[in-house]
Amino acid sequence: MDSLPKKWVCRPGFFKASPHSPSCSKCPPHSYTLDEASTSCLCEEHYFRKESDPPTMACTRPPSAPRSAISNVNETSVFLEWIPPADTGGRKDVSYYIACKKCNSHSGLCEACGGHVRYLPQQTGLKNTSVMMVDLLAHTNYTFEIEAVNGVSDQNPGARQFVSVNVTTNQAAPSPVSSVKKGKITKNSISLSWQEPDRPNGIILEYEIKYFEKDQEMSYTIIKSKETTITADSLKPGSAYVFQIRARTAAGYGGFSRRFEFETSPVSVAASSDQSQIPIIVVSVTVGVILLAVVIGFLLSGSCCDGGCGWASSLRAVAYPSLTWRCGYSKAKQDPEEEKMHFHNGHIKLPGVRTYIDPHTYEDPNQAVHEFAKEIEVSCITIERVIGAGEFGEVCSGRLKLQGKHELPVAIKTLKVGYTEKQRRDFLGEASIMGQFDHPNIIHLEGVVTKNKSVMIVTEYMENGSLDTFLKKNDGQFTVIQLVGMLRGIASGMKYLSDMGYVHRDLAARNILINSNLVCKVSDFGLSRVLEDDPEAAYTTRGGKIPIRWTAPEAIAFRKFTSASDVWSYGIVMWEVMSYGERPYWEMTNQDVIKAVEEGYRLPSPMDCPAALYQLMLDCWQKDRNSRPKFDEIVSMLDKLIRNPSSLKTLVNASSRVSNLLVEHSPVGSSTYRSVGEWLEAIKMGRYTEIFMENGYSSMDAVAQVTIEDLRRLGVTLVGHQKKIMNSLQEVKVQLVNGMVPL
Ligand code: AMP
Repeated sequence: MDSLPKKWVCRPGFFKASPHSPSCSKCPPHSYTLDEASTSCLCEEHYFRKESDPPTMACTRPPSAPRSAISNVNETSVFLEWIPPADTGGRKDVSYYIACKKCNSHSGLCEACGGHVRYLPQQTGLKNTSVMMVDLLAHTNYTFEIEAVNGVSDQNPGARQFVSVNVTTNQAAPSPVSSVKKGKITKNSISLSWQEPDRPNGIILEYEIKYFEKDQEMSYTIIKSKETTITADSLKPGSAYVFQIRARTAAGYGGFSRRFEFETSPVSVAASSDQSQIPIIVVSVTVGVILLAVVIGFLLSGSCCDGGCGWASSLRAVAYPSLTWRCGYSKAKQDPEEEKMHFHNGHIKLPGVRTYIDPHTYEDPNQAVHEFAKEIEVSCITIERVIGAGEFGEVCSGRLKLQGKHELPVAIKTLKVGYTEKQRRDFLGEASIMGQFDHPNIIHLEGVVTKNKSVMIVTEYMENGSLDTFLKKNDGQFTVIQLVGMLRGIASGMKYLSDMGYVHRDLAARNILINSNLVCKVSDFGLSRVLEDDPEAAYTTRGGKIPIRWTAPEAIAFRKFTSASDVWSYGIVMWEVMSYGERPYWEMTNQDVIKAVEEGYRLPSPMDCPAALYQLMLDCWQKDRNSRPKFDEIVSMLDKLIRNPSSLKTLVNASSRVSNLLVEHSPVGSSTYRSVGEWLEAIKMGRYTEIFMENGYSSMDAVAQVTIEDLRRLGVTLVGHQKKIMNSLQEVKVQLVNGMVPL
């Protein structure tokens, strides 16, 4: 048989891959043939076939762009998450590629990020829909393009399909100093020089050099220097010394460098009389310790240092800042150039672990404010508009242009005219507190204007204002990861405050500010004081006001304000954030809140709240304050959740949400509302009365069983309405338990 009879030749639109195939096959989707007797089909325009694809497989195309990408910035790391593309192009081999661009905030020009960025797990061929970038530069604008690719993407001459995310990284501590060189060495001294860390992540304020004789680590010396060279002197001849260096920026200290070991020159025979030098380091440590003891005794004896105390006053500021109050309003400044201190057996707190100083302990409050805040010339400030009302006067937005610096957007708090001296002192008290803090999640103080009649506090500008209002305005608009990112920032700021020994006492979403990158910063330092050492101070709260709904029971009952009571408030802030600014305990009265909490009742889970987050809230609300998590534990827990977003997928489901209520043991069988109609009218949901009645929810007993699914079934599809009804139901139950009458 020379050729197939005509009837066996495939028609256009059909093909036969092998002459041995018994019949012709129809061209698979997105392919065609125009000729007879085709052995394969051609792909339609924009469709392709990978070499390894069988001819029977449909032609495919590159996927569309990934969707709904979100970012979460943690210092110099960025976590990205997205949803797979709507169109996979007909293929199963979709993976993702991340392009990273570093952008200049002024020119807007971007360049490729270069090799310093690490991608976890990797940059290309990502199978999961998330990735983490670490080792980014601090305070830098980045654009990340997430591109979906499949087996035919490389054949596509068209534009790449990607979704892009812009982020600005935060401040981070400097990377360790990596190279240290020895300079001149004598029998008693070693000179060193080093290079700035590879990633300073900001302006280096100073270096700290720690050194000790080899194998004598318990007795070490610390030198601080603004330069990248030092000379360690008074060393033993012919001995090995170990050096470690770390840098400090506004973000704090970076890690110490690895250990560098250098040896002093041996004692020459001619200089052997110099043996007297040998015990110098031991003596210097001992003398150092004795001197410290003398200074401490001196301070504790209540003597007052004047400005001439020199070394002693500088030491007090570094090692014992919390003791400053003993000296009234004497200065607590460090010697800026180079300080040298000796430490033995680690008994003394290292510099860098700063402690908050209560400005109220200054006899002269003006001194406190100038200790901690920069004075700004009023001519450097341009006021633009009023953005809020503070306790002491208007809050405005504007610009600050300091000489030699870029112009900055700022918020300006003003003190209303006709202020009393006490009001001026209280107003500036906030600046004295704020000025001691330096953390990316604490509102940053630029300075104060005090030399004028118009007294002002100038802070960084937070474009989105206070968190509670912002969340209410954007109800339901954020992903869980974004909300957790906000909470992480707040927890990190609170960890910093508690490490400094500062108790906030008024932590609430209204006192958190949020910027355009959704970075949350703790603000409002008006109420707060450290009360630990001063039982009397507990009763001197301004106006005796306590924000009941946010305050831990022990702080309400016996004014025990601690970082653990701040953790309770943090739990309430978590609840506010996850419920988009809902008022905690709704319209219950303060007295009823106190009673319910005392009786062991707690707020129910907000709607659609991940179970892990609600559990964390309940942990923050433990009655025993020692059982509550610490802020560092909260930060690490939130970090874990962010790194593993699938852990946030388990939500507190509707039924357990109800059973988690403070009303768990309550007889939900009667109601203080006389009818379903009255209840729905009261919450402005009267439009649903008919539908409730028609579906058998004609009594409050029946209504008490309603779940969110029931609401959807009844046609209550608007999320806002669902929330209103469910929240009101919980309130009704709370009120039932406490025998309260609804408004
Ligand atoms: P406060 O006196 O701190 O409670 O501020 C009153 C209001 O002014 C706040 O609720 C904010 O809406 C606004 N505000 C205060 N500080 C800032 C800021 N740094 N950036 C933007 N808005 C601010």
